[in-house]
Amino acid sequence: MFDILIKNGLVVDGSGAKGFAADVAIKDGLIVQIGQIDGAAKQTIDAKGKVVAPGFIDPHTHFDAQLLWDGAARPSLEHGVTSIVPGNCSLSLAPLRAADRPAVIGMFQQIEEMPPEAFTIAFEWTWEDFAGYRAAIEPKLQINVAPLVGHTAIRQWVMGEAANQRAAEPAEITAMQAMLRECLKAGAIGLSTSYIDTDANGRPVPSRFAQFSELDALAAVLGEFDRMLQVVPEFYDADLTIARIDQLAELSIKHNIPTTFSPVFDSPLTPHNVARQIARVEEQAARGARVHPQMQTRPVDISFSLLRPSLFFARLPFWYRTLRQPLEARLASLQDAATVERLIADAGPEGGKDMFGRLQVRGGDAAPAELTGRTLASIAEERGEGPAQALISLSLEHGLDVAFIAASAGHADTGRIGPFLKHPLMHIGASDGGAHMSSFATYGDTGYLFSEFVRKSGTFTLEEAVRKITAETADIWGLKDRGRLAPGLAADVVVFDAETIARGDERPVFDMPGEGMRYVRDGIGVDAVLVNGQVAYAGGQYTDATAGAVLA
Ligand SMILES: [Zn+2]
Repeated sequence: MFDILIKNGLVVDGSGAKGFAADVAIKDGLIVQIGQIDGAAKQTIDAKGKVVAPGFIDPHTHFDAQLLWDGAARPSLEHGVTSIVPGNCSLSLAPLRAADRPAVIGMFQQIEEMPPEAFTIAFEWTWEDFAGYRAAIEPKLQINVAPLVGHTAIRQWVMGEAANQRAAEPAEITAMQAMLRECLKAGAIGLSTSYIDTDANGRPVPSRFAQFSELDALAAVLGEFDRMLQVVPEFYDADLTIARIDQLAELSIKHNIPTTFSPVFDSPLTPHNVARQIARVEEQAARGARVHPQMQTRPVDISFSLLRPSLFFARLPFWYRTLRQPLEARLASLQDAATVERLIADAGPEGGKDMFGRLQVRGGDAAPAELTGRTLASIAEERGEGPAQALISLSLEHGLDVAFIAASAGHADTGRIGPFLKHPLMHIGASDGGAHMSSFATYGDTGYLFSEFVRKSGTFTLEEAVRKITAETADIWGLKDRGRLAPGLAADVVVFDAETIARGDERPVFDMPGEGMRYVRDGIGVDAVLVNGQVAYAGGQYTDATAGAVLA
C-alpha cells in the first residue's frame, strides 16, 4: 500500500528529459515507483492535465527568523518551493551569543529591512549555537531548510566587539575554523559572506574586516565537507565583481568547493556588465572552478512609503538619514522648512524629476483612490510643485501612509534576461525570500519563470525551466536526494498547471509579528505541494503536516 499515488500527470522529472505521462507512487517519504501504477494508496491525487515535477529550490533567502514562527516560510510553499536556503549574505541567527543579539538584529533590520518586532515578540531565544538554532526550527518545519552559516555571525562569536574593528589574529582564525566545522557538523550547508553590507550604525559588517587569509582558511574547512561558499560582491561595480569572480575561482580550485555569488542584475545603464561577468565565469569554469552567478527572474520593483525606512533612498544620504529617524522626529523634519529645502536640493535637478518623477501611487492605503496609478510627475505638475516636494506634501497630508512604486526599475527586459537565465553556468536564485518586506515581494519568482520565460517569450521549454530550478540547483548545492523525480529520492513534489502557473499581484499584508506589513504574492496554478512525502499545500490551503527537514 502506497502512502500517496499521483495519477495521470505529465511527469517532468527535473533531468531536462521530455515530460511523459505516468503515475508517481510515494511511501515513507520517498518516491518508490514511476510509471503506470495500479497499486492501492491511502491517498490519490488526480493530476490529469497537470505537470508533476520535483519541488522547486530557492537558494537565496533570509527566512532565518520567520522559520521560528512560520515553518512553511509563507508564501514560498504555495509557489511550489519545497526547499529554501536561509543564512545568506553573511547573516545567520547562529552561532550567536545572547549579548550579541541586538547587534545582529540591527544588521537584519539594516540590510534585509526586517522589522525589529520580528525578533522580539514572535519567539523565544532558546539557543546560542548552530545546533540549538536547528533544534529550535526543526520541529515545526513544513518546508525543507538547507541553512548557511554567516561569516559575520562566526566572526562576532569569536572576536566579540573587535569583529567589526580589525583583521583577525591567527588564533582567532583557528577558532573561526573550529566554529565553522562545528556548524557544518550541525547541519549548515555552507558559509555566506558579504563585501557590501553595513550594520545599523552604518559600519561595514564584520565579514568585511576579514583579510583574504581568513576567508581562505574558512574555505579550507568548507573543502573538508565539500560545502558552498556564498558571496555578495560589490555588485554595483563590474570591475570589482569580476575581481571577486577570480577570487572565488581561486578558492574553488584550491579547496575544491562550489561557490556562488549574488545578485547579478541587468540594467540598461550598464548593458555589458552581465555578459562580461558570464564571460569571466566561463573562463574560470574552463580552469575547473565552480563559480555560479545567481540571477533573479523578476524585474526590480521597489515600493516604499515614508512610514518606514527604505532602501529606495540608499543613493540619497540626506533623505536616507532623515527618513530613518523615529516617527516623531521624522514628521518634525518633514515639516521643517530648512530640512525640506535641503531634501529637495538633494533630490537633483528640476525638483527631483529623475529620481521621483516616474514613481506611481500604489493605492490601497490612505492615498486618495483617484491618484492610484498616477505618476508623481503628473501629480506634482497639477499641484504646482516639484516631484520631491509633492512626495513630501502628499505623504504628510495622509499621515505618511501613501505607498509609491518604482515599477520595473531595472532587470526588466525579458528579451535580454532570458538568455542570461538560460546560460548553463547561471544559477536561478537571488529571490531574497523573507527580506525587504516593505520594499517588494520576494516570492513567486518561480511562477514568473514559467509565465514570462516559458509561455510568453519561449526562452525555455517547460522541461528546461523545471530543470533550472530543481536538478541544477540541487547539483550546485550538493543536495543529493533532491531536485529529481526518481525511485529512492525524497518525495518533494509539485503538481502544477503549465498553462496557468504564475505569480499573483503584489499586495500588502499585515501578518508579520506585531501586525507588521510586508508585500506578498499568492501562488497561481499550483495544485499541490508535497514535502518529504506529505501534502504540505493543496487546493489553496496549507496543511498542518510538519514533514520539512533540515537538509544536510
Ligand atoms: Zn540576501
